Amino acid sequence: MVRGMSSVRELGRGERVLAGLWRLRLPLPWPGVPHCNAWAIAAGSGIVLVDTGMHQPGSMAQLERAMEQMHLRVEQVNLLACTHAHSDHWGQAATICDRAGCELWMHPNHEHATQSADNPELALARRIEVGRQSGVPEAALERYAERVRDMPSGIARAIEPNRALVDGVQIETDLGTWTAYETPGHAPSHVCLFEPERRLMISGDHLLGRISLYFDYGWTPDPVGEFLGSLDVVERLDARLCLSGHGKPFVDVPGHIEGNRKLVAERLEAVVRALGPDPRTAVEISPEVYDQPLTGAQARWMLVQTLSYLQHLERQGLVAKVSDNGVERWRAA
Ligand SMILES: [Zn+2]
Ligand SMILES: [Zn+2]
Repeated sequence: MVRGMSSVRELGRGERVLAGLWRLRLPLPWPGVPHCNAWAIAAGSGIVLVDTGMHQPGSMAQLERAMEQMHLRVEQVNLLACTHAHSDHWGQAATICDRAGCELWMHPNHEHATQSADNPELALARRIEVGRQSGVPEAALERYAERVRDMPSGIARAIEPNRALVDGVQIETDLGTWTAYETPGHAPSHVCLFEPERRLMISGDHLLGRISLYFDYGWTPDPVGEFLGSLDVVERLDARLCLSGHGKPFVDVPGHIEGNRKLVAERLEAVVRALGPDPRTAVEISPEVYDQPLTGAQARWMLVQTLSYLQHLERQGLVAKVSDNGVERWRAA
């Protein structure tokens, strides 16, 4: 996710949620998303840490600060699990694993993150190509490339998992056994962790307290469809308390699942409404879908979300794509 950087700095803060389960609230440099959560769970003489916070100047000190408030230390981490490979959930994984000498468990579909970390120029070229296909003018593409080329990645070092965190993998803690459920959509590498005794769910960015949608476009055939399927997966778990990647823990899990489905349906409808018999580019329809101009830090975000919806509608046979001179246009089918 690329957003503008903000100079406002919050401080890392620890908070006890249950006996043996702590929320570590860590600062982010993104406007509108001031922090993310990592979760520490007591496990024998150490802890299991879920997610890491983003790598940025002073970010390990923020994690240490949050942990110290809960009388925890990075060296106590005996296992690191990441809900997905976005920088705010995996960015400090290498540093933590080096310091604690622990394993990293994460879903194997992490190419969406590891590829850009290994080859940022290629990742940027891919993004530029998506923009060009969608009808973004050349001058705007150049300005975008200029702006993001030197932007920090938020990742200390691309680190691959020691173990694939796929469906059914279990993590033992003092609060019971957590099972991984694959929940792609927000990111191809996304998993949720569920503990059935207390019906606790660590939901990463799949379910957030404040409903907001993001799909990692371009890595799988239909992120929106995958996301809807993943909502069905977590609905069946019947969680009582949801510990999400951003914001406070929340209890109305069914309400949040329903809210997400409703918002996806609204966006899909808005995309269909913007399309008629004459083909239009994603650049042309995005401002109508989001009811705001396609400019500034939100532009790329709006564009790839619109493309994700178009891709979903195309698979359902509701819209058709027309390619002409490298530019893709869409019309109602
Ligand atoms: Zn994410
Ligand atoms: Zn996140």
